[in-house]
Amino acid sequence: MIDFRSDTVTRPCQQMRDAMATAEVGDDVYGDDPTVNELEIWAAKRHNFEQAMFCSSGTQANLLALMAHCQRGDEYLCGQKAHNYKFEGGGAAVLGSIQPQPIENEKDGTLCFNKLASVIKPDDSHFARTTLLSIENTINGKVLPLNYMEQARAFTNTHKIKLHLDGARIYNAATALNVDITELSQHVDSMSVCLSKGLGAPIGSILLGSEQVIKSAKRWRKVLGGGMRQAGVIAAAAKIALEQNPKRLQLDHDNAKYLAHCLSILPGVEVNQAHVETNMVFAKFVKNIDIESMVEQLKTKDILITAGNPIRFVTHLDIDKVAIDSFIDALRNILPR
Ligand SMILES: *Cc1c(COP(=O)(O)O)cnc(C)c1O
Repeated sequence: MIDFRSDTVTRPCQQMRDAMATAEVGDDVYGDDPTVNELEIWAAKRHNFEQAMFCSSGTQANLLALMAHCQRGDEYLCGQKAHNYKFEGGGAAVLGSIQPQPIENEKDGTLCFNKLASVIKPDDSHFARTTLLSIENTINGKVLPLNYMEQARAFTNTHKIKLHLDGARIYNAATALNVDITELSQHVDSMSVCLSKGLGAPIGSILLGSEQVIKSAKRWRKVLGGGMRQAGVIAAAAKIALEQNPKRLQLDHDNAKYLAHCLSILPGVEVNQAHVETNMVFAKFVKNIDIESMVEQLKTKDILITAGNPIRFVTHLDIDKVAIDSFIDALRNILPR
């Protein structure tokens, strides 16, 4: 299978499977799982936060951060395109009684500080209390400018609100900017990182924050049914992902550029190659073509893509240049001449 749908489709390598098979475990709800504890201590230190907490998913880590920072009747500022607004089932409102206040993302994925300032509510019982700004990096494959993180910190300090970073793919951002991860994480009060995407773990995200934030998030995690018992079995793979796989992300980015180039020379396909900053490629099919049928035809050749126009292609550790070449060959035969 050549699967371009997402970097979530990566499978654990043999080293991860071995580590999972032999992981020392205990009951993590009692704080007794040595493998989870080791991962959390290591992750907190690596990212320069007081504490870290292993979570079942990025969606859970984001929700817990929002619930740790905000009380019932508070609101958080975010982008219309934010994953934790648009793609997480409205969890903050549904489960946290927290109102989102989205604004349009700028073309580069950032949120304009003047627009954000204009939606911050005064302290008045007519309004929800504006408590938090949530930003996302990378967002739809785009990297926020390096100084944007610092500006977001200055903005939230001025307005005395907290700052959360949905860093599901923050390692892709650090790789693209060629900076250490702490250059990006140093400015925020909390950060979620997906270990099950480009980093290749089978399951799990990590939430980072102060002792107080993690204490509160841990409480909510239990309330939401996210207290895992012998979670060391999956934490063992997660630790390998976090320690070893950031350094291979450049390869995914190079492959994305290669894929963008190959797609752009096919008739009827438009790709803005300059927009390929990390591991995502968006290709527009401009000729009269039945996208659904194209998806089905590719599937018969063991190639998986998500229907849409533009179509999002994601590169990851199970996709190499050879796979890209086979896909391009298959696509060439399907596209109308
Ligand atoms: C994937 C993703 C999440 C959620 O992660 P899951 O593990 O799929 O729940 C959150 N934010 C962003 C930006 C993501 O890309």
